[in-house]
Order: sequence, then structure tokens, then C-alpha cells
Amino acid sequence: MEDRLQGLLTEARSLIGEATSLDEIETLRVNILGRKGTLTALLKGLADLPPEQKPVLGKLANQIKEQILAVLEDARRVLGEAEQQRRTVEGAVDVTLPGRRLPAGGTHPITRVTDDVCAIFKRLGFSVAQGPEIELDYYNFEALNIPKDHPARQMQDTFYVSDDVVLRTHTSPVQVRVMEKQQPPVKVVVPGRVYRCDSDLTHTPMFDQIEGLLVDKAVTFADLKGVLVAFLHAFFGSSAGVRFRPSYFPFTEPSAEVDIECVMCKGKGCRVCGQTGWLEILGCGMVDPAVYKFVNYDPEEFTGFAFGMGVERLAMLRYGIDDLRLFFANDLRFLRQF
Ligand SMILES: [Zn+2]
Repeated sequence: MEDRLQGLLTEARSLIGEATSLDEIETLRVNILGRKGTLTALLKGLADLPPEQKPVLGKLANQIKEQILAVLEDARRVLGEAEQQRRTVEGAVDVTLPGRRLPAGGTHPITRVTDDVCAIFKRLGFSVAQGPEIELDYYNFEALNIPKDHPARQMQDTFYVSDDVVLRTHTSPVQVRVMEKQQPPVKVVVPGRVYRCDSDLTHTPMFDQIEGLLVDKAVTFADLKGVLVAFLHAFFGSSAGVRFRPSYFPFTEPSAEVDIECVMCKGKGCRVCGQTGWLEILGCGMVDPAVYKFVNYDPEEFTGFAFGMGVERLAMLRYGIDDLRLFFANDLRFLRQF
């Protein structure tokens, strides 16, 4: 019995010494000291021994159990430390490695120009308004002084959804919607997509406009010029020449078109400006009193001005792009340049 106990201790020591993981240690503990373990089996044999041997061997058995427990504990500690070490090394961060770049999307040049234009007008005290792209004929035409038989409807190749519903041909209907909801002073810019049945090198069926409207007491054409020149200088640089030419729009009177000195040739004349040295940038005018009737403004009390411009045109001039369709092709080689 004594030999078997000593043998068990020797065997346990060597098995535990060979263990390479905490899992193996646990398995050994169960195999030796567990309910069906080898030592437990030996201890059960004590009952059959002669009474005089029992105390001696019982004491020995307990000592051996203690020793095995101690060996197990040592092994567990050593292996635990090794495991900890291994995890630290594996999970270590090498701070000298170059960072990983995540591919991030960019802002589309049209969005970028729209944001820039709105930001300039916000600094001038305007707020941003928006309206529906599918619009009633009433807002797109009627309330802007363009009745059904008006020749100006010919200027706009309209997409009709039904007799009374159109895809808006300009952002101007939002002016009416804003004025319906509030009395002057009104000071808004309206960015948005508009639609016209037209497609070639310089026209696309969908494009972006920014519209502006200011109505208050005693607003004059001088205010209109001041605001637009301030905007154009903020956008194109303060040295650019600006000129106003008389024009016609159904919902403004008087109306003007605004040119800026060609940004490509600085006014000398080139292909982009058709050798004139000037580029047409926007249309504007004093709001026609006929429009105020539709929104219950008193034309004797209030005056105001409106203006509108094409965002694609601004973007083409800013970035030197000569084909309008590039903006809508979703070609990443083009878009990544911005
Ligand atoms: Zn030019």
C-alpha cells in the first residue's frame, strides 16, 4: 500500500511536469483526486487494511494528497504566467506600423458648390428653404405670373406628370410657397434639383439651381446689385468684374442677367466665353407686383428682388470642367479629383 501511494506520487509529479496547458492540469487533477480518481480509489482500499496499519497509512495518504495538490498548484501558476505572457505578445500593438487608411466617400462637386453658395448667403442673413420637386402647375407657373397661354411657357421644356402636376422647371415655386406662409421680411435661398426636357453637351434633363428671394419695405434695385456683387466676389474672388444686362423674366420687372468677367481668360476673350470676355452667371430682377397678389402681400408696402443661378455652371467655372454630363456619370475617376 505504501509503495503504491509513493508510486502514485511519482507518477503524478511526472505527468504534471509534462502538462503544457491549464486544461491538461485540470484533467490530471480530476483523474487523480476526483471522485473516480486513482488516489481516491486507493484511499477506499484503506478500509480493508488491518486496524494497526490504518492510522499510519491514512496519514501518509493525506500527506501525498497534500503534495500532489501543491505540485498541481505550482504547475497551474507557472502555466498561467506563460499563458498571460503569450497573450500579451500576441495582442501587442506595434506603434511603429503605419496607420490603416479607411476609404472615405467625398462630397460631390455639385453638393460642394451648393453648400458654398448657401454659406455665403447665410453670412448675408439669408436662410435656406426647400420645396417639392414634383410641383403643381399653379406654383411652377400660375402664381409666378405665367398663365396657361403665356408665351414664356415655351421657354421651358416641361415634364408634365398630369395636366396640373409637373416636375418643377425651376426653384422659383418655392418662393411662392415661402411667401404664402409668412409676411415680409423674407430672406431665403432655395437650392434644389429642377427638370427640363432637354439633353445635349450643355443641357441635362435634371440639373441644380439656387434661387434667392428678398422682400421687405423699401428694397431697391441697388440692394439687388449690392447683394449679388457681394456674392459673386465672395465666390469668384473680389477682383472679378461684374456687369448687369437688361433681360426678361415673367415674374420680375425690371429683370437683368448678370455676367462675370471670364474666369479663364480674365476678360481677354477665349473659347469658354466665346471671345466676349464675359460669362453669364445668373438671372435676377425686382419681384413683379403681380406675383404679390397671389400671396396677399401689399405691393404698395413691400418690394423685393429674386435671383437664380445654375449650380453646374458655377461648378464648371470653378473647377474648369467642360462637359456638363460628367457631373451625372458617377465615374469615380472623375469624382475622386475633388
Ligand atoms: Zn474667356
